[in-house]
Amino acid sequence: MRKGKLTAAAVAASTTLLLGACGGGASSDGFSAPVVEDPSFEQGTTMAHYAEQGEITIGTKFDQPLFGMKNLQGEMEGFDVAIGEIIAGQLGIPADKINWKKAPSKNREKYIQDGTVDMVVATYTINDERAERVSFAGPYYEAGQDLMVRADNDSITGPESLRDSDAKVCSAHGSTPSERIREYVDESRLVLFDSYSKCADALSNGQVQAVTTDDAILMGLVSDYEQDNFEVVGNTFSEEPYGVGILKGDTDFCEFVNESLRTAAENGSYAEAWESTAGKVAEKTPELPELRSCG
Ligand code: GLU
Repeated sequence: MRKGKLTAAAVAASTTLLLGACGGGASSDGFSAPVVEDPSFEQGTTMAHYAEQGEITIGTKFDQPLFGMKNLQGEMEGFDVAIGEIIAGQLGIPADKINWKKAPSKNREKYIQDGTVDMVVATYTINDERAERVSFAGPYYEAGQDLMVRADNDSITGPESLRDSDAKVCSAHGSTPSERIREYVDESRLVLFDSYSKCADALSNGQVQAVTTDDAILMGLVSDYEQDNFEVVGNTFSEEPYGVGILKGDTDFCEFVNESLRTAAENGSYAEAWESTAGKVAEKTPELPELRSCG
């Protein structure tokens, strides 16, 4: 079962028409995803179901600046949000018909499995353990685990430097970084919260000396906590390919998401999504990584 494909040019043309007609639908960070008008999908597919429904529920983070963030006005911002909008747009669903659901690291598989969300776009590393419970499309970005410290801390230079120190390290429950860091620090020096903004607060008030998670997330926290003078150590020690989490075994939907990502890379909306969000801080716009097979 495959969806009827539209060429990138047709998508771009219908998008221009639609945006022309309704004056665009830019989110607060200025990004506006192409929305395909009246897409057609094979009956019985997940795509047909969402397109028919005209809305979709996406799980993301609400407190990760530049990636998944609910701002003070209650609007959603960030690269993950933009990727969600890109996929929804290919289903004919405009940004204002997306229901955003806060999806903390440790709840993501559960939310996909029990139908709390239709998909997760939330700095979500693809790995074998998670793939036993959910399926992943993508990856749409490659991050790496790093450390964030106060700028005046020059004793923490990477994970090895944590072995013989008494530094406390913060991370989030149910995340890959919280597991990997156990190679370097024992349980008594590990502080876990349900989100990384709480770790940034703990670094700010001296409760911990380092925060560990993906460099992409730390970059957002450094910019958000500007007055605290945090910095990213810049010594990554893992590969964190970000996937779109969906119901396990929905190969058609996985292929559709991959095709939507490819279309976005071709029509420029992937680069635009980056530049309106994380690209405001990051130096280089990434290329869409090589997508994995869904089978
Ligand atoms: N990418 C890592 C993970 O999926 C860390 C980021 C997060 O917790 O969202 O566990």
